Amino acid sequence: MKLICIGRNYAKHITELHSEKPEHPVVFMKPDSSVLLKNNPFIIPSFSEDVHYEVEILVKIKKVGKHIQPKFAHKYYDDIGLGIDFTARDVQNYLKDKGLPWEKAKGFDGAAVIGEQWFPKSKFQSVEDISFRLEKNKEIVQSGNTSEMLWKINELVAYVSQYFTLKIGDIIFTGTPSGVGPVKEGDVLEGFIQETSCFSIQVK
Ligand code: ZN
Repeated sequence: MKLICIGRNYAKHITELHSEKPEHPVVFMKPDSSVLLKNNPFIIPSFSEDVHYEVEILVKIKKVGKHIQPKFAHKYYDDIGLGIDFTARDVQNYLKDKGLPWEKAKGFDGAAVIGEQWFPKSKFQSVEDISFRLEKNKEIVQSGNTSEMLWKINELVAYVSQYFTLKIGDIIFTGTPSGVGPVKEGDVLEGFIQETSCFSIQVK
């Protein structure tokens, strides 16, 4: 199973990180070892002083595909979920400055939260209008809607399939809206799609 992640897919998040709007989707991967195991807390890694949460809509692939056309992309997924792309921001900024790959900042153990709650896409009128949010210690810190994506879900599925054969169970992290910020020991992060809780994570 692979985790394919999209960076810089919401305009306001690009501004908050002082990044440039990309010409094409920014794509990176997380290894399967980065998945935070069920019921486990998230442990801040010792190599970072500035780990950020990034709440993201997840898309689970249900059919093998490559070179998928956007108009057929909807046939390759059903389940929509929510997760966190934990990012060691200080490590990422160092790597970005040097033009190096981001894996150490994004692919460490526990850096991928995959909520247990999935919804069939038929639950939504459109996958291009799904609201979601992240609460930290019961306060809303991020809220977004898939309508704000620069590249919509079907475009992302098609785009990444030009490079990587999509396999059953692969998950696409579709990028984070604005409001990212640091976590500290004792924080509780709870993510919602519409009004349904998808995960609750303790930070240690
Ligand atoms: Zn992200």
